[in-house]
Formats: sequence, C-alpha cells, structure tokens
Amino acid sequence: MNEGFLAGKTALVTGSTSGIGLGMAKALAKAGANVVLNGFGPHEQAVAEVAALGVETAFHGADMRQALEIEAMMQFAAQRFGRVDVLVNNAGIQHVAALEDFPTQKWDDVIAINLSSAFHTTRLALPAMRQANWGRILNIASVHGLVASALKSAYVAAKHGIVGLTKVTALETATTGVTCNAICPGWVLTPLVQQQVDAKALALGVSVDEATRLLLSEKEPSLQFTTPEELGELALFLCSAAGNNVRGAAWNMDGGWAAQ
Ligand code: NAD
Repeated sequence: MNEGFLAGKTALVTGSTSGIGLGMAKALAKAGANVVLNGFGPHEQAVAEVAALGVETAFHGADMRQALEIEAMMQFAAQRFGRVDVLVNNAGIQHVAALEDFPTQKWDDVIAINLSSAFHTTRLALPAMRQANWGRILNIASVHGLVASALKSAYVAAKHGIVGLTKVTALETATTGVTCNAICPGWVLTPLVQQQVDAKALALGVSVDEATRLLLSEKEPSLQFTTPEELGELALFLCSAAGNNVRGAAWNMDGGWAAQ
C-alpha cells in the first residue's frame, strides 16, 4: 500500500505505454495515485511497472482520434475508481514534412491526438472534479507550443492550440480547487524523438550518436535531453498543495530552447 500525498486519488494518463506518459504514470503512482494507463502497442510491461509501485492500475486502449472511444475510456475510469482526479493529456504523435507535401490524413491525426483528445477528456473529467472541488489537469504540450520549427506544421499548430486550451480551462476553473497547466518539454529521448534522430542519421549519412549531437545543438542550448523522470517531478509539484494557485501556466523544461 502506497501512502504518498496522492493516495486515494486516481490519475488517468493518455499515451502512457511508453516515453513521457509512462514517466508521468510512474511519478504519480510513486506519490500514491491509482493509475489508468492508455496507449497503443504492448501495454502489459508498462502496467506491471506502475502496479509494482503499490497502487491499483487499469488499462484502456481507446484511440485518441475517436471521441466515442475517449468517452468509453472516461466512463471505464469512473466506474473502476469513482472519478479521475488527475488527468494527464499526454498522447501525441509527430509527422515531419513541408506544408505543401503534408499528408492531409496525417494533419487530421496529429490535430486529433495532440489537441482534440484533450478537449474530450477535459470536458468529460471536469464535472466530477468540480463536484469534488479538487482536480489537476496537466497538458503535455511542448516547447513547440511556444515557438515553431519548420516542417512541423500540424504538431506546432496542435501544441500552440493545447496551450490555448490550457489557459481557457484554467480561467473557467479559476475559483475552484481544479487547476490546469501545460508542461512544455524540449527534447526528451523517447521513441517519438528516436525516430527523428534515426531519420537525421539516414539523411545525413552520419552515426546515430552524431545525429543526436546535431539534433540537440540545433535547438537546445543545454545540449542535454530532459528526462521523463524530471517531467514527472514537475507534474508532482503541480499536483501538490504548493501548486494550488498555479493556473494556466505553460511551463517549459527545455534546456533554454525558448529563451533564445
Ligand atoms: P512516445 O511515442 O514515446 O509516446 C506516445 C504515446 O502516445 C504512446 O503511449 C503511444 O502509444 C500513444 N499514442 C499514440 N497515438 C495514440 C492514439 N491514437 N491513441 C492513444 N494513444 C496513442 O512519445 P513521447 O515523446 O513520450 O510523447 C509524449 C508526449 O510528449 C506527446 O504529446 C509529445 O508531443 C510530447 N512531447 C515530447 C517531446 C520529446 O522530445 N519526446 C518533447 C515535447 C513534447
């Protein structure tokens, strides 16, 4: 039995079968929250890692492109645990292409997964949070919610959008115990970024190590990846009592990327 400060609370983390989402799920579980995981691909390992932290876990495989599946996931979480207290909107994909060549289906998928899914989970989680007069909504945006990069039109549009959604949610809940904030990471070495490193190595005919060095030095002054564990600690701060009046922030953890 885990008796951390989130004991008795339930967190739902979208896209938590790998990367940052799994890091968030583990951080919240370490603080005692029961966790509903979600995502594509094999999930047994992720669920086992979170359960090993001494909390209740559940998994729902809703596709974040489908509003009806998101509704089913939120109902599942409410039936299993009563309500969602901490909602982490994390699921996301990337596609890199020039605007003229951007596949329209990819545009729709990126906007649906990285932005619209957060609208659906938030609208469905809010009534019970309001009733409890406590809740935390954490939107995993990106430094690309604050600044742009070429060839990432859908991603940058979705991430700027989720920063906007964060602010509106924070304003509509400002007099309640529910807070909503965005977390804006720079580079984090997850499968999503490894794909971009591998593509760079192939395109430039260089080693993966050299492609990694080039990727970091283009944008991130610290030349270091942020880790899912560091992001998890920021999430815990925002969930703590010290975060009671942090509302509508877009908090970057980006090695100085957006400071340039
Ligand atoms: P990842 O590829 O490791 O994880 C993405 C997760 O989303 C996986 O669990 C995957 O199964 C899930 N997912 C993808 N499509 C889905 C769908 N249709 N329905 C349900 N789940 C789906 O990527 P990550 O790097 O951990 O990214 C997580 C979030 O962090 C994303 O929103 C991403 O934009 C953001 N982010 C990542 C970085 C980075 O450098 N890795 C930087 C800034 C922001």
